[in-house]
Amino acid sequence: MNNANWVTCYVGLGSNLSNELGSPTEHLQQAIAAMREHEQIRKVDVSSFYASAPMGPQDQPDFVNAVASFETTLTPAELLAFCQQLEQQALRARLRRWGERSLDVDILLYGEAQIAEPQLTIPHAGLLERNFVLIPLRELAADIMISGQPIDSYAASNDWTGLKLL
Ligand code: ATP
Ligand code: CA
Ligand code: CA
Repeated sequence: MNNANWVTCYVGLGSNLSNELGSPTEHLQQAIAAMREHEQIRKVDVSSFYASAPMGPQDQPDFVNAVASFETTLTPAELLAFCQQLEQQALRARLRRWGERSLDVDILLYGEAQIAEPQLTIPHAGLLERNFVLIPLRELAADIMISGQPIDSYAASNDWTGLKLL
């Protein structure tokens, strides 16, 4: 494993639904704990937690959002499967598009990878427009370049509309 190729990744976490397993904040904490326990994931770092106004349907609670960074030997497809496993462990149910959910885990960046498949798009398709993703990402990686541009050159990384530090 020492010679394995460790790739730096960023994932976005979100929740706005409590269930028998916990509150939105607890769903995020449980997912982060599972990342720290994974043998093919190391150096997990987590942003502050943020409250954000919902995207899409407005008749739902605010979200708790955060970004985690880590190094992994998982391939992009394996990492997607792990993210989906985390969502299932939080008992995520599909209710409506961009609706309430106990846990959403999106791959934001996977090294320098550029992938354009419907089941896996990297960088994540919504990344550049979403302040609830760019602001926590910028907190973790102030100097990161996204698609050839510094993160702070994207307007949403400086726009606190609907966002609060928890
Ligand atoms: P959005 O992707 O706009 O944030 P969402 O998170 O609500 O919306 P989901 O229902 O969680 O969307 O996921 C729909 C599909 O998106 C998943 O089945 C997955 O295959 C696909 N997908 C594509 N790119 C990614 C990515 N980078 N990370 C996670 N899922 C992705
Ligand atoms: Ca999402
Ligand atoms: Ca998702």
